[in-house]
Amino acid sequence: MPKKTLEDYQAKRDFRRTPEPRGEDRRISPAPIFVVQKHDASHLHYDFRLEVDGVLKSWAIPKGPSTDPRQKRLAVPTEDHPLEYAGFEGVIPEGEYGAGRVLVWDTGPFRNLTEKKGVPVPLAEAVAHGHLKVWLEGHKLKGGYALTRFKTGKDEAWLLVKADDEAADAPGDVLKTRPESVLSGRTLEEIN
Ligand code: MN
Repeated sequence: MPKKTLEDYQAKRDFRRTPEPRGEDRRISPAPIFVVQKHDASHLHYDFRLEVDGVLKSWAIPKGPSTDPRQKRLAVPTEDHPLEYAGFEGVIPEGEYGAGRVLVWDTGPFRNLTEKKGVPVPLAEAVAHGHLKVWLEGHKLKGGYALTRFKTGKDEAWLLVKADDEAADAPGDVLKTRPESVLSGRTLEEIN
């Protein structure tokens, strides 16, 4: 698996130019959090991040998450982000890595539900093994979600799928009905 650590995050960015956090604060949340950021870079996508051992494990999801268990969403791993990134919204300047607007589309605590033969699997191990199941307590996303790797190597790729539970099949497309930031209520156009 290609190395995509917090050091890679820092190496890719010029912190004199981008307003993104440097990632020097290594505190751990009392309850692990997830965040989904809407990011209008060269292509609009959603970044799905889960707190694992003090960093945000990250996947870029071109079509965004779905509440429909029949919709499998491609999730491409990106470098670990610092925990403070969960509160980042703003504009990454032109010419910088990931240039474009970012908003916090959803966030909240989550629980790790990953098991193997009935035995709980720690999340870091689950990520390394390429399969995890989490329970999200977001403002928009709720309930179980599974992330499963289906391709390894240079073109590593995963799928994000909603579990078929009581939070499944929320009416309408949540990406369209709730486009705004859960932190500021702003839409992407209003981020500056
Ligand atoms: Mn992104």
